[in-house]
Amino acid sequence: RTALYPGLVALESDDRWIRDLQGVKVWARVEAQGLGKATVVDTDDLLFAKYGVSGFTILNLSARIVRHLREEGPLSLLVSLLPDKSAEEVGELLQTRWQRHPHRELGLSLAGLLHAKVARVLLARAGLEASALVAGVSKRQRRELAALITALPIRVTGPRNFDYAEVTIGGIRTDEIDPHTLQSYVAPGLYFAGEMVDVHGDLGGYNFQWAWSSGFVAGGQVATR
Ligand SMILES: Cc1cc2nc3c(=O)[nH]c(=O)nc-3n(C[C@H](O)[C@H](O)[C@H](O)COP(=O)(O)OP(=O)(O)OC[C@H]3O[C@@H](n4cnc5c(N)ncnc54)[C@H](O)[C@@H]3O)c2cc1C
Repeated sequence: RTALYPGLVALESDDRWIRDLQGVKVWARVEAQGLGKATVVDTDDLLFAKYGVSGFTILNLSARIVRHLREEGPLSLLVSLLPDKSAEEVGELLQTRWQRHPHRELGLSLAGLLHAKVARVLLARAGLEASALVAGVSKRQRRELAALITALPIRVTGPRNFDYAEVTIGGIRTDEIDPHTLQSYVAPGLYFAGEMVDVHGDLGGYNFQWAWSSGFVAGGQVATR
């Protein structure tokens, strides 16, 4: 069999600021960095937790990065909290808002754009006081904040363990099984089905579908022997 990894699973992070956002769920675009030419990106719910990050976007990405996390070490995720906008567009949006209300406090000025707790954390990371007036923010600081909103880095150190995983990645090698009958080439008379085979799918019922379909095929084959 191949090596086994937990899949469709939350990821751990040692970024301490994440603890301040425990329980907050946002809509976000998350892209994994450091995987060479492969683009691993998903846009969906992102949940901050005491151990790291979870939510549909993380579970979906996890299946594509757990091998790297386990074999090669931590990775960086870049999170856009306004997935439809570039950093430049967010900068312009902030400028427009702040020109209209120059005496508004920074924390309040982000209401409606970002979750209040997320806004506080981002401002702190940008070295800005939530209670400062927007009129006092420099162009450089505005650019930095826009960059954080569209590419917030999160260092993930590994997947949570199998107890928290929805699926096992890896299993009986598919090249050792007849794809038509699911009979083992190595041990004739032995049939495989479901998650024990090196097959896994994204969220959305694909793992159930594989378990049921392969069980139907393997069971049918055994019944005819
Ligand atoms: C929390 C959670 C949520 C999930 N949600 C989804 C979802 O929404 N959609 C989706 O597609 N997939 C989902 N999955 C994945 C899906 O449940 C599995 O991929 C699927 O059930 C695998 O089916 P299986 O028959 O191969 O294995 P299993 O369902 O694990 O069945 C294996 C069975 O074998 C039994 N067994 C183990 N060892 C022995 C032994 N030595 N002797 C006898 N019996 C034994 C076990 O008790 C178990 O009943 C989820 C998984 C988890 C954990």
